[in-house]
Amino acid sequence: MQKREAVESAAELVNHYKGGKMKANTLQELYVEQLRDLYDAEHQIIKALPKMISAANSKDLRQALTEHLQVTKDQATRIEQILERRGEKTKAEKCKGMQGIIEEGNDLVSKTRDSDVRDAAIIAAAQRVEHYEMAGYGTARTFATLLEEEDASELLQQTLNEEKEADQTLTDLSGNVDENAADRGGSDGRRMLRSRHVA
Ligand code: FE
Ligand code: ZN
Ligand code: FE
Repeated sequence: MQKREAVESAAELVNHYKGGKMKANTLQELYVEQLRDLYDAEHQIIKALPKMISAANSKDLRQALTEHLQVTKDQATRIEQILERRGEKTKAEKCKGMQGIIEEGNDLVSKTRDSDVRDAAIIAAAQRVEHYEMAGYGTARTFATLLEEEDASELLQQTLNEEKEADQTLTDLSGNVDENAADRGGSDGRRMLRSRHVA
């Protein structure tokens, strides 16, 4: 082995054990990297959702998030299946993007005092999560198709559909929640309208 090659592979090894991203030189490697990133993202969501559920005021919102928590666990299992079938380790690679989205969401939610406004914040944060996941799964599904891994492609499509459904449910819920939030701290006109209702 040439000296340069030896240094490079040693660097790769160090990077590997530091938990950094492996170099992806082929579509296969890029695909596996993306799967491990999604695997980590799903685990971050599994950790974050219970906090969002207990912060939510609307019963429908709590129910939607609780259902999606169960769905999310199944999605993580699907990625395990795909990696195992390829003979790959099911290790996670830190998804920094999801980490940022979740951090931002937690900040947003913890800053809101009014319970209706907080529900609007939870929906806003959750929809960012869903859209980021949709981008990731769309790509992973396409890679699976290109690599002619039909079973994996179907599993990833199934997850993609679930993420889209979750996003749609949140959009449906946001109709009521945002209306209530607007009634709270919103414009003076809205407030007067509300006090007139109460009176
Ligand atoms: Fe998910
Ligand atoms: Zn990521
Ligand atoms: Fe999701």
